This record gives sequence, structure tokens and C-alpha cells, in this order.
Amino acid sequence: MSVLLATSLDADEEARWLALLQTALPGETLVTQHRPDDAEEIDVAIVANPRPGALRGLPRLALIQSLWAGVERLLADPDLPPGVPLARMVDPAMNAAMAQTALWAVLALQRDFFAYAAQQREQRWQQWPQRRADEWPVAILGLGQMGRTVATRLAANGYPVQGWSRTPAELPGIAVRHGDAALASVLISARVVINLLPLTAATRSLFDAARFAQMAPGTSLVNFARGAHVVEADLLAALDTGHLQHAVLDVFAAEPLPAGHPFWTHPRITVLPHTAAQTDPRSAASIAAANVQALRAGRPLAQLVDRARGY
Ligand code: NAP
Repeated sequence: MSVLLATSLDADEEARWLALLQTALPGETLVTQHRPDDAEEIDVAIVANPRPGALRGLPRLALIQSLWAGVERLLADPDLPPGVPLARMVDPAMNAAMAQTALWAVLALQRDFFAYAAQQREQRWQQWPQRRADEWPVAILGLGQMGRTVATRLAANGYPVQGWSRTPAELPGIAVRHGDAALASVLISARVVINLLPLTAATRSLFDAARFAQMAPGTSLVNFARGAHVVEADLLAALDTGHLQHAVLDVFAAEPLPAGHPFWTHPRITVLPHTAAQTDPRSAASIAAANVQALRAGRPLAQLVDRARGY
């Protein structure tokens, strides 16, 4: 049997993944393309934004392993073979990177460091009152792999943290609420709202004018999940009226963020190029390989996506 690596990465990046995966799976045959006559040989597909049709015509496929954490694009792909177990990337190194980026954003908002950076460009010397972490409550929407790590890191840095999930959850030191009915009360008490939800039918366009109105004046939004969670025009309106203080955005409806997009130059928006937590091939290749080895050994597969749930 062989393993197909199907990506739309550039050639150098794909070659790097191939080499790391081959090292982690020394006994396996890895291929990056297949012909109809060898399709029967392929029983695993390791994917990163596979090209349309790349997974079509593979009758023996028993595992699709994503190299990315978010799987909404795969789930929306009409060529995704039905019924084949789909696993997503969960890597503690990625969670740690996300926690660092979230801490940077919350700290910069709490201590006005984004404002000071803007003042430097204007050569303006002005101090603002210094706030303490314990008077800067943070709400984290999505308490999965990313959200839990972020919540724990922020709480350890003195921020009062509330988390919100779909189903009940417990996390030491974090006030956890769940379900749609609880969301408004989570939002109203936060100075910073961090989005770490998966993109599903239930969470698409969650951040619209009505949702922003549920936030207290002066709240800031940090979106590290997916651009389609946010109605961009409504966010711009909420920032322009001053209802929202600031937005730190890593993800966008269209990526790369198009030249001339108003987010690039908005004084209340900080833009990152989808880099809050990158998949690191050095650790992720062996995590993907471990799932292939689990399949071969007949052990349970890790981090399977519930297709009906959407994450
Ligand atoms: P995860 O482990 O699947 O966790 C998802 C969390 O969201 C769970 O707590 C889940 O609740 C909650 N949730 C889902 N639907 C909900 C709903 N309708 N209402 C309330 N809560 C809901 O996901 P993850 O690994 O933490 O990743 C989250 C997202 O981060 C990914 O999907 C991806 O979009 C994004 N991401 C971004 C980057 C970046 O660099 N910007 C990197 C990696 C990932 P339950 O616990 O009740 O199921």
C-alpha cells in the first residue's frame, strides 16, 4: 500500500513535507501523484489544501490526514470521498504558538501598545493610564485545542478569563459557559473577545452588527480562527463609530488580504498574514505519521473530524 501526499503547496514546501514524512514513515511508499492504474495501491492521503479532484478515484482509501488544523475547506470539497475517516492536525507546538500570539494581542491591547506604535509614527509623546491585567477580562470563544491553551496561558498571566463552547466543559481557573443562550452574557463582560471557533454552518458570520452591539463599548476583537466568521462591513462600521476599540485580525474572507482592502490601513485594525499559529512540519510530520502507523497497526485513529458536526 502507499501514501499519497496531496497539497497545493509550492514545490519546495511540498518536497520538505515529503522528506520529513518519509523519515517518519521509513517503510512506506510515499507518492505525490497517482495514475488510474496505481490508484488501488493508495490507502492513505495526507493533505494540505489538495487540488480539486486529487482524492477522486481512490477505492482503497482508509484515512485522510489533514496537515492543517481547520478542515472546513476539505469538508466543503465535493470530491472529498464520503465515509473515509478524516483526521485533522493537532500539534501541541501549534497550540503553544497560538497562545503566544494571543498573549501578545491581549497584552498590547491592555497596555495600549498598538496606540503607542501609531503615536511613534506621528512622533507624538503621550502616556495613557496603565491598566492592570486583573481589570482586563478576556472572553475566548471556542475551547478546543487552541482555546484551552490560550485560556490557560492568559489566566496564568493574570487576566480574568471566560470561555465559551458548544457543550459543557471544565477548565481550572476559567469560567466556562456554553450554548447560544450564554453568548451575550459572555461578550458583555469582556474587554477583549478572542475567536477560536471552527468555521461551521453555526459559526459562519457569527460576528455581525447584532453581535458587536452585544459587546460593551470599548471592547476589542481578536480573530485568529477564520475570516468568514466576521461580517467585514459590520466590523468596519463598529470600529468607525468607536463602539469597538480595536481589531487584531489574522484571517480574512479573501487571503491574501487584497491590496487596497480597507483593513490594511484602518487605524483601529492590526493585520497579521494568517500566521497566528502555523503548522510546523518539524513536529507535525511525525504527528501525521503516527496516525498512519495507528491505521497499519489497527489502533484507534487520533483527532478524527465529526463530518456532521463540521469540526
Ligand atoms: P477544536 O479543538 O475543534 O475546538 C473547537 C471549539 O469550538 C470547541 O470548544 C467547540 O465546542 C467550540 N465550538 C464549535 N462550534 C461551536 C458553536 N456553534 N458554539 C459554541 N462553541 C462551538 O478546534 P481548535 O483546534 O481549537 O481550532 C479552532 C480553529 O482555529 C480552527 O478551526 C481554525 O479555524 C483556527 N486555527 C487558526 C490558525 C491560525 O493560524 N490563525 C491556526 C490553527 C487553527 P465543544 O468543545 O463543545 O465541541
